[in-house]
Amino acid sequence: MVSIDCRDGLWPDPPESPESTAFVAAAREGRFLLRRCIACGKAHWYPRARCPFCFGETAWEEASGRGTVYSYTVLAREAPPRSLAYVALEEGPIMLTSLVSCNSSSLAVGQAVTLVFERSQNGTPVPCFRPAAGG
Ligand SMILES: [Zn+2]
Repeated sequence: MVSIDCRDGLWPDPPESPESTAFVAAAREGRFLLRRCIACGKAHWYPRARCPFCFGETAWEEASGRGTVYSYTVLAREAPPRSLAYVALEEGPIMLTSLVSCNSSSLAVGQAVTLVFERSQNGTPVPCFRPAAGG
C-alpha cells in the first residue's frame, strides 16, 4: 500500500496563457471553471476559446468538481509517491490530473472523486482530485 499525500508546493508552475487567466483567477477563489460550447453545448477540458468538437464559440461556466476515476496509475517509486489519473467530470470532459490524499490500495476505476486545488511552487492553484466523502 502506498500513501499518496497532498503535494502542496511540489507541483511545477503551470504555464500562463491568455486562455488560462480567468481559470486561474477563479481557482484562487476555490471555483473550478470549464468552458462549454455555445453552438453544440458540449463542455471540454482544457479551456479553449474555440470548441474542439465544432469550432464554435465557448463560454465559461462553474463546474461541480465531481467526477469518477476513468483510469489511473501510481508512481510508487517517486518520493513522495504520486498518482496520475484520467477523471471523467460530471459535465462530460475527461481530464488528465492527479489523485491526492488517498491510499493506492483503495483506488479503483469508477470511484467517485472530488476536486481539490493544490498549489504549485509559486502558489498557482493546480486542479487535483481526492476520493469523495463516502465514496
Ligand atoms: Zn461545439
